[in-house]
Amino acid sequence: MSQGSLFIVSAPSGGGKTSLTRALVPALAAHGVTATISISFTTRAPRPGEVEGTHYHFIDEAGFVDKIGRGDFLEHAEVFGRRYGTGLSETRALLDAGHDVILDIDWQGARQVKREWPQAIGIFILPPSVDELERRLRSRSQDSDAVIAARMDEAHQEIAHHAEYDYLIVNERFEQALIEMTAIFLEPRLRSQRQLATHAGLIGQLLAPAAG
Ligand code: 5GP
Repeated sequence: MSQGSLFIVSAPSGGGKTSLTRALVPALAAHGVTATISISFTTRAPRPGEVEGTHYHFIDEAGFVDKIGRGDFLEHAEVFGRRYGTGLSETRALLDAGHDVILDIDWQGARQVKREWPQAIGIFILPPSVDELERRLRSRSQDSDAVIAARMDEAHQEIAHHAEYDYLIVNERFEQALIEMTAIFLEPRLRSQRQLATHAGLIGQLLAPAAG
């Protein structure tokens, strides 16, 4: 079985990253591709509705530091004052099982993954306008203007790193952005080198001299 590919997806909050990556998994399954969203480790507390082992592995600061010491992380970073990290052995196991792995991580983590694993494919999702970004940030909760301004500032900091990614998607219309994401995931599988390996039997049959 051929190895899966590693994909990094980053976006400012309000970029629509979570809904897109969730919709991507069944969209790829329709093409026979098994993709899995990596479950990160974090020191932040679960939000209402979040489930251990589904949304994150929730661990405490000491446990996180311990994992850093053991070299358990492919990457780790502090985001909004909390620690987040991607498990190394978990990622390897999924890739070895032929899954495409989706890392929903920030630009700091993306940079580390690219350094360790240059063949990883980076995708950055942009909101379609400043007004739309602000509208999406506001629609999430009843936050004060000061909180919204701080979120806009964080969004700017993330967007400043867009050029470090291989692909940029402007998420104006969800369905279109999903097709674009799907295309990026399918492209490496359609390369002739990989297709030759996958379909060696078929190609052999097609080239065999006609019987009789
Ligand atoms: P949230 O706490 O809202 O789920 O995530 C906050 C931010 O942390 C998001 O931008 C998300 O992409 C990022 N993040 C989540 N998991 C990881 C991780 O394992 N590593 C890194 N570097 N960032 C992560």
